[in-house]
Amino acid sequence: MLAAILCAGIGLAMPATIDAVAQEAPVGAGAATVTGGRIAGDMESTRVFFDLDRKVDISSFYMSGPDRIVIDAPALLFRFAVPDPLEPRGLVSFRQFGAITRERSRIVLSLAEPARITAIAMDEVEPGKQYRLVIDLAKSTREEFTAMLERQRELVGASGAVVTKGDRVRKPVPAKKEGRFTVVVDPGHGGIDSGAVGKNGTEEKNLTLALGKLMKSKIAQSGPYDVLMTREEDVFMSLRDRVAFFRQNSADLVISIHADSLRLSQFRGASIYTLSETASDRLSHELAEMENMADIVGGLAASTKDDEVRGILAEFTSRETDRFSMAFSSTLVNELGKGIQLVKNPQRHAAFAVLKAPEVPGVLLEMGYLSNEEDEKLLLDSKWQDTTASLVAAAVDNFFKPRLPD
Ligand SMILES: [Zn+2]
Repeated sequence: MLAAILCAGIGLAMPATIDAVAQEAPVGAGAATVTGGRIAGDMESTRVFFDLDRKVDISSFYMSGPDRIVIDAPALLFRFAVPDPLEPRGLVSFRQFGAITRERSRIVLSLAEPARITAIAMDEVEPGKQYRLVIDLAKSTREEFTAMLERQRELVGASGAVVTKGDRVRKPVPAKKEGRFTVVVDPGHGGIDSGAVGKNGTEEKNLTLALGKLMKSKIAQSGPYDVLMTREEDVFMSLRDRVAFFRQNSADLVISIHADSLRLSQFRGASIYTLSETASDRLSHELAEMENMADIVGGLAASTKDDEVRGILAEFTSRETDRFSMAFSSTLVNELGKGIQLVKNPQRHAAFAVLKAPEVPGVLLEMGYLSNEEDEKLLLDSKWQDTTASLVAAAVDNFFKPRLPD
């Protein structure tokens, strides 16, 4: 729908096979490859380009709060020869790109000032071999930007969420078995949202996925637990969809895993967060604010007053859920303390949107902080990963054991 109205009429050589093989093939299999790109220009006009090995059909739209230009494309593989050729500059203050679903990729350009697209085109550099997606931006005004958003709204409704809504949560839910518990392991970030990046280039989204898989297998081996994961690949999943996934699967426990960055680089070790409207401390507050930005990073609409997640919380908060989450948090601190380093006061709390399902107990586990170089090394260490996953599994088992039928 967006493509039909806002697409700049670019080539249509989208390979027809992607959708058909998507279920079996790894993310991005058979996709066009992006081999390079650059951002050039100044605060008056800025050019962004990407080099691709084939033509793809793209669409673009504007978003506000913060101001962004979003470009959607079929699955793309970003494989740059230079580590990161797209240094933000001029009108582009920040950029993200990556998978938004298995079949779609997205480029998000955050704007330093209101700007408009003056030209968007797929140039043929070498027919059949190299193509260049060129996006030209010019400085605009607040009034003009608002007017563009209104026109867009009239045409397509609220944008952004259209792309991922329901995409990840439509699977049939298996009936709950007597004497078994459902544990959801939730690897933070993914796809276009890489999360924190360490000094040596470690991306949080990859760490959380690797550790998540390890935890899943160890928890499943430790007792009568059905372990589900919100994502098992490098794809984006919105906070809303994550919460919907927990609820739809009637999770008995959620463990959301992260390895974020903090402004205090000396801060290191694992910490466990539970949900609270007021944060236990300043750092926890900042962390939750940052985490709750994940949907914006993915090019979705910012939360509004009628946002589902907030609505849920306003409805009612469950004391029992809070009690369970706190109890598990204590168990987890106990277990992790046996084998890995924890921060001082490791039990913390803040308003994490991902923990806001009222009937689902859960914690957010920060395994360590990528802002600390020692932690970055440790997080990549396979022995440390194995120990951590084993301790998490032990905590899950200790937590549920008293509730198992004799
Ligand atoms: Zn994170």
